[in-house]
Amino acid sequence: MTLAHISGYPRIGADRELKRAVETYWRGELDREGLEAVGRELRARHWAAQREAGLDLVTVGDFAFYDQVLDLSVALGAVPPRFAAEAEVAAGEVDLDTAFRMARGRAPSGAPAAACEMTKYFDTNYHYLVPELHAGQAFRLAATRLFDQVDEALAAGYPVKVTLLGPLTWLWLGKEKGEVAFDRLSLLDALLPVYGELLARLAAQGVDWVQLDEPALVQELPPAWRQAYEAAYSVLARAPLKLLLATYFGGLGDNLGLAASLPTDGLHIDAVRAPGELEAVLDRLPAYKVLSVGAIDGRNVWRADLALLRERLAEARLRLGERLWIAPSCSLLHVPVDLERETELDPELRRWLAFARQKLDETVTLARLLDGRATAVDHERLADATAALQARRDSTRLHRPEVADRLAGVEPTDQERASPYPRRALAQRRALDLPLFPTTTIGSFPQTDAIRGARRAFKAGELDRDAYEARMEEEIAHAVARQEALGLDMPVHGEAERNDMVEYFGERLDGYAFTRFGWVQSYGSRCVKPPVIVGDVSRPGPMTVRWSEYAQSLTERPMKGMLTGPVTLLQWAFVRDDQPRETTCRQIALALRDEVADLEAAGIRAIQIDEPALREGLPLRRSEWAGYLDWAVACFRLAASGVRDATQIHTHMCYSEFNDIIEAIAALDADVITIETSRSDMELLDAFRDFAYPNEIGPGVYDIHSPNVPEVDAMVRLLVRAAERIPAERLWVNPDCGLKTRRWEEVEPALANMVAAARELRRRF
Ligand code: GLN
Ligand code: ZN
Repeated sequence: MTLAHISGYPRIGADRELKRAVETYWRGELDREGLEAVGRELRARHWAAQREAGLDLVTVGDFAFYDQVLDLSVALGAVPPRFAAEAEVAAGEVDLDTAFRMARGRAPSGAPAAACEMTKYFDTNYHYLVPELHAGQAFRLAATRLFDQVDEALAAGYPVKVTLLGPLTWLWLGKEKGEVAFDRLSLLDALLPVYGELLARLAAQGVDWVQLDEPALVQELPPAWRQAYEAAYSVLARAPLKLLLATYFGGLGDNLGLAASLPTDGLHIDAVRAPGELEAVLDRLPAYKVLSVGAIDGRNVWRADLALLRERLAEARLRLGERLWIAPSCSLLHVPVDLERETELDPELRRWLAFARQKLDETVTLARLLDGRATAVDHERLADATAALQARRDSTRLHRPEVADRLAGVEPTDQERASPYPRRALAQRRALDLPLFPTTTIGSFPQTDAIRGARRAFKAGELDRDAYEARMEEEIAHAVARQEALGLDMPVHGEAERNDMVEYFGERLDGYAFTRFGWVQSYGSRCVKPPVIVGDVSRPGPMTVRWSEYAQSLTERPMKGMLTGPVTLLQWAFVRDDQPRETTCRQIALALRDEVADLEAAGIRAIQIDEPALREGLPLRRSEWAGYLDWAVACFRLAASGVRDATQIHTHMCYSEFNDIIEAIAALDADVITIETSRSDMELLDAFRDFAYPNEIGPGVYDIHSPNVPEVDAMVRLLVRAAERIPAERLWVNPDCGLKTRRWEEVEPALANMVAAARELRRRF
């Protein structure tokens, strides 16, 4: 019998119950027992769903109030001393509030401290808390949460599989801290006994299978790390239970032999991202091992082609017999919870989708189909999936010949500005008449309660379109007037009309769809609701022109138009799986190109195309970076290049690693790039200097995440440092990022100081 299981289930709840409970607890309006009760209730519900669907094992260990990587760090005793006294860790029961303080810097109890760093989990939009590692660090079992959860599941009578991040990926995701330089891999020997203890305890509870996630195996690993896998797993293999080594988010590539040969009882592979590796894995898999094939897409919302999968996996079933397991490719944490809730989604589209709950059914049905023990329900699901996918392939919603034709007609020159930067700069200087060190902002101004209220009322039908637009115009007028008063050289309209920088554009582009409850955890209690790119993307009409034009009518200064870039619009959505990402991105780029042209025609002399997601689109393997960057850069250029020399193209990115992609950043050929730099003390600009970055740069001079008003002197100092690296004629003055999360009371004095700093620089240069 082919066993069906999952790597993990979304824990937020179909109504984001977890978010509400955790936030209420943080506010002190729910006590600890109340919070724990919500956790128990959600786990019970999710295990029940797994059993109801017919999975053979329920997965324990995927639950966390904040982050599962954080919970593991706590369980391993990797709690930095600023959060907990040695005694708390030694007692083996680190408090939940300690974990919350690690995540957020504060919790209902305990002294605040600087939170741990948070970053994206591989190439997902899920953020984990980075384990802080110190030279010579000791580990000890310091939390019993996992064991309690196992007991809960066992008490409910479920067959349990536990999932945990493996020791090497945990170290891989960690970061060396402290004065002493060391290699975090050196901590492995100290770490393994704690894993051993943990596994022994699970075995004593009656757990048969533990899944150790090692997604680091889909990346290029230094030789020492590859060797460490062998050493570590030969130790872990002594645990008195069975181990499933889980890899996902990509193919194993040159780690395939290693992963197949490690002494575990099973291997899980991602057959969605790397369908071509199945064959090779089958050839290399030792005869005693189980192979868990991740066949159902855990990263996207499309319904599985069960007929095709049955065909593709028939050979594996034949060769492996009972040693074949079926699962989603990775944890279902990365997809929304339940499609059943989308009662307002148009039925045609709904039929093409599967969320986490539906993916459980798909997993079970596929396993039973492979065994030839499919029930009537399975056959119905199979037939329905086949019909739905056929309908999807044939749908006019997917394919718009005019979009394909236009894409086919794109010439290389469409990705080139008419003249090289130095010539454009001259034309822009004449057209814009800006001072040295021109001041600007990144786009958004505070999203006030009044703005949100108006948007809600408009959506609810309580405010008609005219009234709503009048309200937005008022906000824009207000933002423009304040910028003029502050003396900003290049104002923006403030983005009052935008709920979100992706959703706003998605709602105005053909080919995008939106769900009502399609929430996915992003970090902690924060969830995002990515749109779904369903079909060919095109622009039915101007999206932003009306607002920018209005804003420009209020001022003589050059108003900066504001767009979200093609890569970001792609990256922050669920993308269609029937064509390469690159093709979808180029379609978006063409739609934006038209918007850029319309803005220019409406008299907008500077247009910013934000690409904050450019970097996160990088493939997990460095060997694939160049291919991605090629098309990502081409898409940006396609969107941006249709303008005259005198029209200034800006872009904005807010992260702090440019070194390894500086060439691609330069290849964007934006006239101006604004970046986040204030916290790096301008050292980030070294990469731009060393590369001899040719165009203009606006290094952020203050951190917008903090409510503190930056001092003039501090910003002058940063700008002087910037001018040591970049010629003054090519420097702009701006904050790190948009100001929508701040309040006007903070923004006004901050920008007043920023303008004063720019004026001081002008005096000095
Ligand atoms: N223009 C956007 C804003 O100011 C940019 C947001 C971002 O970089 N993430 O809000
Ligand atoms: Zn930003």
